[in-house]
Amino acid sequence: MIIYADNAATTKLSDTALNSMLPLMREDYGNPSSLHHVGQCAKEYTENARMTIAECLNALPNEIYFTSGGSEADNQAILSAAKNGERKGKKHIISSKFEHHAVLHTLDKLKKEGFDITLVDVYSDGVVHPEDIKNAIREDTCLVTIMTANNEVGTIQPIKEIGEICREKGVLFHTDAVQAVGHIPVDVKEMNVDMLSLSAHKFHGPKGIGVLYVRKGVILNSLINGGTQERGKRAGTEYTYGIVGLAAALKEAVDKLDENSKKISAVRDRIIDGVKNIERCHINGNLEHHLPGTVNMCFEGIEGESLILLLDQSGICASSGSACTSGSLDPSHVLLAMGVPIENAHGSLRLSFSEYNTVDEADFIVEKIIETVDYLRSISPVWEQIKKQENA
Ligand SMILES: *Cc1c(COP(=O)(O)O)cnc(C)c1O
Repeated sequence: MIIYADNAATTKLSDTALNSMLPLMREDYGNPSSLHHVGQCAKEYTENARMTIAECLNALPNEIYFTSGGSEADNQAILSAAKNGERKGKKHIISSKFEHHAVLHTLDKLKKEGFDITLVDVYSDGVVHPEDIKNAIREDTCLVTIMTANNEVGTIQPIKEIGEICREKGVLFHTDAVQAVGHIPVDVKEMNVDMLSLSAHKFHGPKGIGVLYVRKGVILNSLINGGTQERGKRAGTEYTYGIVGLAAALKEAVDKLDENSKKISAVRDRIIDGVKNIERCHINGNLEHHLPGTVNMCFEGIEGESLILLLDQSGICASSGSACTSGSLDPSHVLLAMGVPIENAHGSLRLSFSEYNTVDEADFIVEKIIETVDYLRSISPVWEQIKKQENA
């Protein structure tokens, strides 16, 4: 039996998304730029998809730009705002300490090019404080970029309030909403955002396709040189099947949002109830403003990697945080930013659920966590030390 509990890393393609893609792979394989009818048929598919996506986000179709995923959308939004800011002598950008690496590494690059970067604190509850953003804004600030929901701990940020502050100060505001779209309500107008990134494979769509929403009137530069696709902002023949699959997956996720949110949070709550009595177990991040399906915890005295490998042997697919950084034994930058002690950050476990998970699976996971944590502690010198100190 395989239990997949790593949906923050990627999700299973839904049947609805798959079936929407098959006709384009089989017979409607045209290039949307071609003038003949096969090409124009492909164009109709992509433009209908664009309309569906716009409706789901409360945006206009010509505010939707297709990219290769969340990383590219983040890069394009940030680099474009930086270049346009620089032209006006504005070289200051505000972000937070626990953004995705697609954001943080882009900011590192800009720092090397002479930009000044302020990363605000995220505190132990894993939430950015809007006042901190307000206080950090300067005359030369060209961009604020704050994620809608964190990918490691699942906390949701006060995007609407931050957006209001940015509007008031006339500063561009981008949000990486890759973990949020399809999981919580996302309305670009209500959130007061100028740019927003999303990625299909995080909500049961195909990999390799994402969207950058750019509010009408905001200037966008292209990253890739070539043809005039996406109104000159993103060259390259459209990934037609991906675009159609993204739209189908998004529509399905948005239609079933309430129903799925209840179902998924029941699975997550079952996990929290089951592990909270384990000695020296800590749940990371505020659980009030939180994604329905993600939970992150630390177990003192053990290594997260060992726990994950042993859970895998029991058929459970979990993660120690971000899939992009695992493989390195560095503790999570997210947990460190939240003030989790370095030794605990090494023992972290992220479980992230989807509509395909069940409460029975949660019970099995809890049973295996208890068993595995017990075993790892029985052979852990660090745990022995903790116990000795307790008894001293
Ligand atoms: C997955 C993820 C990304 C990257 O998206 P890709 O489509 O895989 O490039 C960016 N930001 C967050 C918060 C993510 O979870």
